[in-house]
Amino acid sequence: MRTIDHWINGALTPSASGRTSPVFNPATGEQQAEVGLASAEEVDTAVDAAARAFRTWRSASLSKRAEVMFRFHQLVVAHRDEIADLVSSEHGKVPSDAAGELARGIENIEFACGVPQLMKGGFSEQASGGVDVYSIKQPLGVVAGITPFNFPAMVPMWMFANAIATGNTFVLKPSEKDPSVSLLMADLLRQAGLPDGVFNVVQGDKVAVDRILDHPDIQAVSFVGSTPIAKYIYSTGTANGKRVQALGGAKNHMVVLPDADIDMAADAAVSAGYGSAGERCMAISVVVAVGDVGDRLVPAIAERLPRLRVGPGTDPAAEMGPLITREHRDKVASYVSGAPDEGATIVVDGRDNDLPSEGFFLAPTLLDWVKPGMRAYDDEIFGPVLSVMRVSTYEEAVDLINAHQYGNGTAIFTRDGGAARQFQFDIQVGMVGINVPIPVPVSYYSFGGWKASLFGDSNMYGPSGIEFYTRTKTVTSRWPDPATSSVDLGFPRTR
Ligand code: NAD
Repeated sequence: MRTIDHWINGALTPSASGRTSPVFNPATGEQQAEVGLASAEEVDTAVDAAARAFRTWRSASLSKRAEVMFRFHQLVVAHRDEIADLVSSEHGKVPSDAAGELARGIENIEFACGVPQLMKGGFSEQASGGVDVYSIKQPLGVVAGITPFNFPAMVPMWMFANAIATGNTFVLKPSEKDPSVSLLMADLLRQAGLPDGVFNVVQGDKVAVDRILDHPDIQAVSFVGSTPIAKYIYSTGTANGKRVQALGGAKNHMVVLPDADIDMAADAAVSAGYGSAGERCMAISVVVAVGDVGDRLVPAIAERLPRLRVGPGTDPAAEMGPLITREHRDKVASYVSGAPDEGATIVVDGRDNDLPSEGFFLAPTLLDWVKPGMRAYDDEIFGPVLSVMRVSTYEEAVDLINAHQYGNGTAIFTRDGGAARQFQFDIQVGMVGINVPIPVPVSYYSFGGWKASLFGDSNMYGPSGIEFYTRTKTVTSRWPDPATSSVDLGFPRTR
């Protein structure tokens, strides 16, 4: 069985803990490798390497750090297909999804290439007589990232590109479900000229995470994953004096007003609901149909589903792949089984499919007449199950969304600019799309939800990423007027 190692101090490092976790090919259901799960001591080794590397990396010039990022960018682009194949083989997403993930990750490397501009401080001349005040952004030290299975390339890039460019050193703890791509990225960073120890990978589970949370040399922790774990990471990390940003789960609603273009809304609901098998934190999970629009929209979505090709990532025509594990597939299917008893209607049942039973497949499923209080509505399902809810008015739609525990993303489909503007004003959600179903901000803005979708006050990447990975030092300096100084400077003092 192939084993998947750590990456510590610039080299592959086999795990010595004796604990492992299986890595599957979700499309075939076969175990393809096992990943070593780090002990606390192995985390310490990685943190020591990162702490040593920080002493020199923080002194590297801005242009040197930008140059490494530019070279890394070129290497990632050159290895695009290889990275996408690796993502597809362990996660199961189809090639177009994997390529899309990578494109959104690469944006963050592009952003980090601008680090000389991004690290600029402020300067106030003559705050008082002979007194200048200025601020400097400095890196924190060793910082860690803990990432989810659903974007094994992009989410780490959200974190480490800015963290490294701003002069920190990094320890990544990727998801144990699809750990290999982190090692390919580590090797590409090495090839880009990144000094040993600046980027490290510890594979692992809760043991590694807990050591990261209490290691005294780790200054900050970035987390993306489910809400219960995000809450745990935030409370434990901050109690230990660390700076923490922790992004959690989601339940994203797409409101469709009666004036919306039905074909456009149906296409958007299908791509945003079932893309990457619904395993996206910005996936549309609930369509809120206002007025009578549901009577036109539900058939329009339903007629599209049989045309959506479900299959393995090795099928170039496949548009939706399997779920990450058998257990997760079965859990998602249980929301479908339970829906009729709770009063919902199954319009399209993805359990009735002729997909290979060994793979972790569930075909697209559509539920109608879903209501608050039903499991399918209250929980984050994180699979290819789209629910439709019917409401009479715009106000009801807004109240429904604002009452939900999650507030990651939302969208409105309408032809009415005034209604869209009102929605953007009223809605208590961090990222809003207007006729855009998945409004993931570009890398020069920042990503973050509200309510139970984010713990702490820092969004991820973009300007917030630079703030998160730097701290400000403010200098107040006074230099006496040379005209009144008694020191002989060896040149005339007249101006
Ligand atoms: P997860 O919370 O199970 O795991 C995330 C990370 O936490 C992994 O590295 C995992 O090893 C670690 N972990 C798991 N259990 C732990 C425990 N008990 N103690 C300490 N660490 C633990 O999430 P997942 O299943 O990998 O990813 C899917 C979830 O991530 C969904 O809820 C999704 O909405 C969310 N997500 C959110 C965003 C966002 O930006 N808000 C982005 C992607 C995914």
